[in-house]
Amino acid sequence: MANFLHRRKLTVILCLLLTVSFLTVSLMSYYASKNAIHLALVEKELPLTSNAIYAELQKDLVRPFFISSMMATNTFLHDWVATGEQQPELISRYLKETKDTYQVFTSFFVSDKTRRYYYPQGVLKTVSPSVKADKWFFRVRELTEPYEINIDYDQAHDNTLTIFMNFRVFNHQQQFLGATGVGLSMNRLSKLLSHYEQSYQKNIYLVDSTGRIRLTGDNRLHNTRSIYQMDGLKDIAANVLSQHSNNFQYRSQKNNYLLHVKYMPEVRLFLFVESEENQAIAQIRRALYLNIAVFVLIVLATIILTNMTVGYYQKKLAVMATIDHLTKLMNRQAFEAFSANMLADSRRHKTPLTVLMMDIDYFKKVNDSYGHAAGDKVLQGIAQILTSTVREADLVCRWGGEEFVIFLNKCDVVDAERIAEQIRTKVATQAFEFELYHLKVTLSTGLASYRHDEPVQELMARADNALYEAKNSGRNSIVRH
Ligand code: GH3
Ligand code: MG
Ligand code: MG
Repeated sequence: MANFLHRRKLTVILCLLLTVSFLTVSLMSYYASKNAIHLALVEKELPLTSNAIYAELQKDLVRPFFISSMMATNTFLHDWVATGEQQPELISRYLKETKDTYQVFTSFFVSDKTRRYYYPQGVLKTVSPSVKADKWFFRVRELTEPYEINIDYDQAHDNTLTIFMNFRVFNHQQQFLGATGVGLSMNRLSKLLSHYEQSYQKNIYLVDSTGRIRLTGDNRLHNTRSIYQMDGLKDIAANVLSQHSNNFQYRSQKNNYLLHVKYMPEVRLFLFVESEENQAIAQIRRALYLNIAVFVLIVLATIILTNMTVGYYQKKLAVMATIDHLTKLMNRQAFEAFSANMLADSRRHKTPLTVLMMDIDYFKKVNDSYGHAAGDKVLQGIAQILTSTVREADLVCRWGGEEFVIFLNKCDVVDAERIAEQIRTKVATQAFEFELYHLKVTLSTGLASYRHDEPVQELMARADNALYEAKNSGRNSIVRH
């Protein structure tokens, strides 16, 4: 029981040590990697990605912007209006060429004088302030800025959602001639953003200065129309829109978002590029889980191995504690435990049991004359004789220095005397070899048969008395009590 408790204590301490050291190392490296990833994301990857996307969008958004701006200052357009908008096919061809050359979705010119809406296929319609779809023109007419970017449905193309770059057109005399520009398909731009989102593994969206989300890819479908309605982001929205380029962070639904914002002055839109930190650290978290799994296996293996090893040595120690080193016989402690069982058995089944108590005669002389090692050799030889003469079921014990006790199980006095006699004869006739000597010794034996009602001390005392008598009666003899 005590052994078991010790073993358990050892296991618990071992597990604790392993757990504490392992968790410290694993968590430290996990947090170190997490920090490194965070820093890499915030300081390098996110701004770099944002710049790359910015450059791509520049091509897709800013180029049309410049095309529109050039259209507004085109002298052909000015001259054609000045000559009274003759031959509409001329302007249509010009618009078509612009559209095809620069591969935009649509191009247009709306004359202030005639209110005609020209597009690559000809005249689309005449705009009127009372028509809702035409309101944009009258707004642009009153603009103080030279242009506006407007997202609207294109009537010329089945009401496709389109980003229009509406530029005000003035001639040399600063007379307002109308509005011109190109339109980009929102659908195509949205696909483009999705493509960037996929290749850069980021969420990308374009936001105007009021916080309205004007364009997104489909990574993170914003049902919300404004960043002021987005969980987490709304708290920093005002701050984000007040700066032209910076890094931000916000939390939404237990996820940490790292955000890089860059203002695109030409189109007056903010480019939002954001990364979910959880996604970035998912890999190292997987590594942590794997580490923990491996660790659990290691701990289990350690527990099993320690238990096996400790158990093995405990058993070995237990055996060592019960066996006499010199003679390989049972020692007195072990004998007392085993003999108690044998006595109980004998009592219960009323079977005979006989004790032989033996002492080597004049053993001191052997030691004195030939040395201690010679004495040891004799002890070993006698132990050999004892074990080979009795049965497996009998108990043979080294009682003390050169004294032995044998419990003969299920053996009455007659048989016991016979066995004792056999032993006596064997010992007396055997010469124990030691170096060049042939050592001879004799053995005195006290014999007592177990009376089932007597305590064990009495049985042993009777055997001891019998041995004493055997010694007194000249030794090399057997006395029975
Ligand atoms: P007696 O016939 O009266 O028994 O005489 P004895 O010389 O045997 O006397 P006693 O029993 O008093 O002496 C026992 C001796 O056994 C004393 C001790 O030195 C020796 N002895 C005890 N254990 C060992 C042992 O492990 N090895 C050796 N070599 N000698 C031992
Ligand atoms: Mg003695
Ligand atoms: Mg002796």
